[in-house]
Amino acid sequence: MTQTQASKTHTDVANFDRWTSSCFLPGAVVIDPGNSVLYATGGWRSDRPVWNEEACTNCMLCWVHCPDSSILVEDRIMTGIDYEHCKGCGICANECRFDALEMILEPDPLSEQAGAPVKGGN
Ligand code: SF4
Ligand code: SF4
Repeated sequence: MTQTQASKTHTDVANFDRWTSSCFLPGAVVIDPGNSVLYATGGWRSDRPVWNEEACTNCMLCWVHCPDSSILVEDRIMTGIDYEHCKGCGICANECRFDALEMILEPDPLSEQAGAPVKGGN
């Protein structure tokens, strides 16, 4: 199937009941369920949340709102941030009512600070 044929089949809603996986071009397609953990999306981040454990009340608002399941929790206690998958959207810091999360600019990847561990994350 050519690219034109595939796109046409995909966008032709009249043929919806005949769509199969072969109608879609490779790319941006999640074939296997539950595999997002395999994709390290932390590199997309321009800002990172930094957690202040002393200010945290474990209210779990950040955990509820994080779209990437990157707030780490054990036995109902926040333990850190999964920087391997956190995309830096800032929702957690926006939702925190206790100023326990602050967004900071990621260091320039070419600077000496790049890759240095950050307090409050894992
Ligand atoms: S929203 Fe703030 S206070 Fe609540 S668990 Fe997250 S960091 Fe802690
Ligand atoms: S910045 Fe966004 S992706 Fe990262 S921990 Fe906060 S809510 Fe989740």
